[in-house]
Amino acid sequence: MFIGYVPSTGRFKDSVETNANGEIIADQCMATNVPGVFAAGDTRQKRFRQITTAVSDGTIAALSALEYISA
Ligand SMILES: Cc1cc2nc3c(=O)[nH]c(=O)nc-3n(C[C@H](O)[C@H](O)[C@H](O)COP(=O)(O)OP(=O)(O)OC[C@H]3O[C@@H](n4cnc5c(N)ncnc54)[C@H](O)[C@@H]3O)c2cc1C
Repeated sequence: MFIGYVPSTGRFKDSVETNANGEIIADQCMATNVPGVFAAGDTRQKRFRQITTAVSDGTIAALSALEYISA
């Protein structure tokens, strides 16, 4: 049995764009279709899910959020 790849994004499906698997769609800056809302890690649509990619996403999302707030 293998568990762990179903994202817990149900509460966001009416707020931000998700795909058929419930993964949040975000661009390379981790920005969603809603200005000021960012997604990172396994919660978003992407090809590879590893700790390193999640940490990278987190850094990018945090810097993008900082940039958004500063602007
Ligand atoms: C079985 C399995 C084996 C894996 N093995 C490896 C491996 O060997 N090497 C590797 O690099 N990667 C591995 N991965 C992938 C790796 O675990 C993930 O890519 C990584 O943990 C994603 O980090 P994340 O922070 O995005 O999500 P998560 O680590 O899932 O963290 C999300 C956190 O949010 C919390 N949360 C959820 N909903 C809420 C809420 N409403 N309010 C507050 N908190 C909430 C959860 O409890 C959780 O602590 C494995 C994954 C699985 C499932």
